[in-house]
Amino acid sequence: MSGFPEFNYRGNELFVESVPLRKIAETFGTPCYVYSRSALTKAYQKFETAFAGRDHLICYAVKANSNIAILNLFAQLGSGFDIVSGGELQRVLQAGGDPGKTVFSGVGKSRAEMQLALNADILCFNVESEAELITLNEVAQAMGKIAPVSLRVNPDVDAKTHPYISTGLKENKFGIPASAAASIYQSAHQYSNIRFTGLDCHIGSQLTELGPFMQAGEKMLQLLNTLQSQGLEIEHLDLGGGLGIRYAHETPPTIENYVASLCAGTQHIKQRLLIEPGRSLVGNSGILLTRIEYLKHTSARNFAIVDAAMNDLMRPALYDAYHEILPVINNRAELRKYQVVGPVCETGDFLGHDREFAVETGDLLSVMSAGAYGMSMSSNYNTRPRAAEIMVDQDKTYVIRQRETIDQLIASEQTLPQ
Ligand SMILES: *Cc1c(COP(=O)(O)O)cnc(C)c1O
Repeated sequence: MSGFPEFNYRGNELFVESVPLRKIAETFGTPCYVYSRSALTKAYQKFETAFAGRDHLICYAVKANSNIAILNLFAQLGSGFDIVSGGELQRVLQAGGDPGKTVFSGVGKSRAEMQLALNADILCFNVESEAELITLNEVAQAMGKIAPVSLRVNPDVDAKTHPYISTGLKENKFGIPASAAASIYQSAHQYSNIRFTGLDCHIGSQLTELGPFMQAGEKMLQLLNTLQSQGLEIEHLDLGGGLGIRYAHETPPTIENYVASLCAGTQHIKQRLLIEPGRSLVGNSGILLTRIEYLKHTSARNFAIVDAAMNDLMRPALYDAYHEILPVINNRAELRKYQVVGPVCETGDFLGHDREFAVETGDLLSVMSAGAYGMSMSSNYNTRPRAAEIMVDQDKTYVIRQRETIDQLIASEQTLPQ
């Protein structure tokens, strides 16, 4: 057992669903991202099932993995979307997603992005400051539209996660303090082209405990109560995303427990519940497949130099994040401890430190839990074309993004006139 559903050893060989990863590498080359349709579907269905009779909407956070095939799969399953840019909106529309189930988050929406979203008739803008609200009102007025709005409240709770992905503390750039939000809602009449429809928060990512979610939820309920007593009709409560996954030894709440707790905590209100899960829908549904180019043994350390790098998977370099790394063929005897590093010219270019396995040059490694914030954060640093993306559906494989070519990569650049 690998411990990752749909990615399992058969004998000594690692498979995704019914396809050997070795075969994917032979057919499509490395590095490549490989996703399991079954794992994606099961994760989504766990959320749906857990909500049971509750009026709810799951808005998949597109930034976790924005491949059109993945968006299309979730759209077919009935998912809504949480977007943070006009580009993500365009992806959702192209993937057949429903703009009426799409919410738009982010602290720096441009006027052009607001126009795109108003034209598409999205469900709601999650507004993060009074200045943004004033701008949105102007843009909507000029278009003769009414913008549906939810204020993103910063509930000032400690998500107990990595500081770079914690968003719900009062010193973070996100959201509006609860007291300020209350007074903005009360001045609703000042905004001719805004309709306040919801209340929103998102406290961070990779949360491995329920406590912070419940604390934030409590604060939101208090605010909701205040607003209602002042006669404001709020239609939905959006509790954001952030549920963590198991990368190594974490024990995050299960999807079932998380949703059950949110439902139990909001039992007495009639509002529709929205959530914006990203990582927990896609993280453990994908891996990064890479081949060992060289083994280098020095007196200090052993290095496995692989063909994937920090430009393909940035999380280790950016957050010192841990990803389990499994050999695709697990049959050799002599274990050694390796630093798994890429070809990029940075010491920060590593995928894993001190990993023990028995491998030879040319062997394949599978970097696990790479479905979220992997491809979507990739770059072309060192002029490295971005990896291909492959979707496995039982015994079938589909290219859902071609490997980039160097020609594509430099096509839009030009020299100065001579
Ligand atoms: C990133 C983000 C999410 C998704 O977070 P996950 O940790 O991937 O679930 C949801 N809502 C907002 C506003 C975000 O910025």
